[in-house]
Amino acid sequence: MSYATQKMAEEKVFKDPVHRYIHIRDQVIWDLIGTKEFQRLRRIKQLGTTYLVFHGAEHSRFHHSLGVYEIVRRIVDDIFQGRPEWDESERLVVLCAALLHDLGHGPFSHAFENVFDLDHEKFTQEILTGPTEINTILSKVSPHFPQDVSDVVAKTYANKQAVSLISSQIDADRMDYLLRDAYFTGVSYGHFDMERILRVMRPREEQVVIKYSGMHAVEDYIMSRYQMYWQVYFHPVSRSAEVILTKALHRAKELSQTDYQFSFEPHHFKSFFNHSFNLEEYLALDEGIVMTYFQAWMKEEDEILADLCDRFVNRKLFQYIEFDPAKDYRKLSELEQLFKKAGINPDYYLVFDSSSDLPYDFYRPGEEGERVPIHLLMPNDELRELSRSSEIVEAISGKRRSDHKLYFPEDLITPDGKKKALKKQILQVLKG
Ligand code: ZN
Repeated sequence: MSYATQKMAEEKVFKDPVHRYIHIRDQVIWDLIGTKEFQRLRRIKQLGTTYLVFHGAEHSRFHHSLGVYEIVRRIVDDIFQGRPEWDESERLVVLCAALLHDLGHGPFSHAFENVFDLDHEKFTQEILTGPTEINTILSKVSPHFPQDVSDVVAKTYANKQAVSLISSQIDADRMDYLLRDAYFTGVSYGHFDMERILRVMRPREEQVVIKYSGMHAVEDYIMSRYQMYWQVYFHPVSRSAEVILTKALHRAKELSQTDYQFSFEPHHFKSFFNHSFNLEEYLALDEGIVMTYFQAWMKEEDEILADLCDRFVNRKLFQYIEFDPAKDYRKLSELEQLFKKAGINPDYYLVFDSSSDLPYDFYRPGEEGERVPIHLLMPNDELRELSRSSEIVEAISGKRRSDHKLYFPEDLITPDGKKKALKKQILQVLKG
């Protein structure tokens, strides 16, 4: 029997709070989970700084990756198997892509990528195709298999059905993270009937479609996504923590480019500061390492680095106000001047941050981020784009919603002690 079809003597199961059980029969999947690159995902939280707002959100990318695998396994083994439109030979490649799609995420992904100009998707490709334990296992399936898995994750794979299982507007990735993040944050939105959606999914030429009878379950899923984005993912307080984390890393990077003597040398970050890192150095990072540096840097001589690290570790977050960049442009430069006068560095303590999301979009060729829409399979076997049948989805289709905030440390501008009048003036401009 070839390695690709090898089954384990007995099925293995992982207990999971969202899917109850995660079932593993394939030897390849079991071996991939055992690699050090996959185990590393246990040490990277799924929601970055969100645990500072929703304390339950300590779940890791390891949980989520297993969850996406399980959803895809159920689709291909329970729903698609035996259907003429589904090519059974794609089974293993989609299972591997589901399991491994987030492999390249680093610690506190967004902040880290932003400061060091990295792209986790590129790292996922490198881990799949480079000198790693993951690659050794995938190569045992066949010499081109690592590249095939990488292509499914990168959405360049020839079979678009395979791609749309992992990344489309209704895919296993989104379904898992919405349910999982709702569970761990404890919020009441984010829930939808995934069982129902799985039962009505059908393979069609270039995509996965939904039987018309499942339309209301899909509406519920789209609304859940919409609510999770605004209530959890873009929560202004977890963005405050992310702003502080980003600025602390920026400060450390800036100091490393001067002759500043760190009392706790940033060994793990040095190659990132000058953008000369390799894959091994990237994989050596996790959130435990970042927190170790932050704890140590709270005692650094540099006051800004010490203060930002203390704020992050001990959750002394920045306050925020609504800020319209088009209207309030002048206010920002005025505040920058006042901050400087008050001896507060605005590069680190006055931060503009935006979030925006497009909840669902129909297909608009040529536009940025072209999205494959969700298609309903009508009783007459025709396909119909979702927003043409659903009034609820139509109402939010193609509508981008944005949110802009200006972050600042309220404790530093409380009008007392030195420069009282100046701080009063800053508060007036901020609240005015
Ligand atoms: Zn994911």
